[in-house]
Amino acid sequence: MGTLSDAFGRTASDLRVSLTDHCNLRCTYCMPAEGLAWLPDESVLTDDELVRLIGIATSLLGVREVRFTGGEPLLRRSLVDIVQRTAALEAAPEISLTTNALGLARKAQSLAAAGLDRVNVSLDTIRSDTFTKITRRNRLHDVISGLEAAHEAGLGPVKINAVLLRGVNDDQGPELLRWALARDYHLRFIEQMPLDAQHGWRRHTMITADEILASLSTEFELSPARESRGSSPAELFVVDGGPATVGVIASITRPFCGDCDRVRLTADGQVRNCLFAHQESDLRGALRAGASDEELAQRWVAAVAGKLPGHGINDSRFLQPTRPMSAIGG
Ligand code: SAM
Ligand code: SF4
Repeated sequence: MGTLSDAFGRTASDLRVSLTDHCNLRCTYCMPAEGLAWLPDESVLTDDELVRLIGIATSLLGVREVRFTGGEPLLRRSLVDIVQRTAALEAAPEISLTTNALGLARKAQSLAAAGLDRVNVSLDTIRSDTFTKITRRNRLHDVISGLEAAHEAGLGPVKINAVLLRGVNDDQGPELLRWALARDYHLRFIEQMPLDAQHGWRRHTMITADEILASLSTEFELSPARESRGSSPAELFVVDGGPATVGVIASITRPFCGDCDRVRLTADGQVRNCLFAHQESDLRGALRAGASDEELAQRWVAAVAGKLPGHGINDSRFLQPTRPMSAIGG
């Protein structure tokens, strides 16, 4: 039928699907200790609804990659089945998962067998006390066994996403990199973004890409990787002559909006054309009212056509979106 193109020449082919807004961790940069007011069950898309929308995206709208996220996607009981049904679509996409890895040790093999290609695991520290401080749960050992199981199941390259927080783990970048290199995990540092439910993000306290690179450079020799970053948000650096690399996703200080190829579907069936969008387009209502695949595809096309050129975080008039990262799907 067509593609998901916008007025600035970008085409979205990478779909992030949030499977739930629930989570079993409480990362301080994401949600408050008491959790959030979760979405009502009846507003969350059923497996059939989800798979139908993903099928529309891949067969009618040119989507080539699907990443399941959340909240914590492993909390969706039917995850293996959803992956299997996605992999069985006529225009099957590449399928990946962004997860905190709690419980991944038990599910990695069946996810791989169902057709999952890769995982990204969020891990900000390898020190148990720091992990508990950041996530408010004492579960570092579960994350580590989840990573090992993903590696063994062939869900690679296994990537790790890390956020550095000033005064908490900003001195631990080199240690985390050394640990990841020894296990062949691909580490990427993400600048903290204003997407926490508590609206606690401050420009002057976030750790910048320059600071991350300066800290890593105290122990490693970094040189910019030759391969172009394309639509990938991570700027890659070769470590100690290679072949290993480390990535930095500098959404704030080195924005990459001009190359963005993403579109998001929330667990309650809203299309978001940007993490920082203030508007959403409701597919659930139309779907439940009996819209055809073509009608849903048209709504999706219109939702992406209105995408703004950039997130505007560095603009003094920037307003944080109402939905936090955990409810949008990171
Ligand atoms: N629960 C899963 C996880 O943690 O991987 C998936 C959802 S989580 C919202 C997706 C990613 O968003 C994680 O890598 C997490 O570190 C990142 N994230 C959450 N809040 C963030 C923030 N305020 N700034 C930057 N990254 C954030
Ligand atoms: Fe949960 Fe992921 Fe948010 Fe941490 S970053 S609280 S694991 S959704």
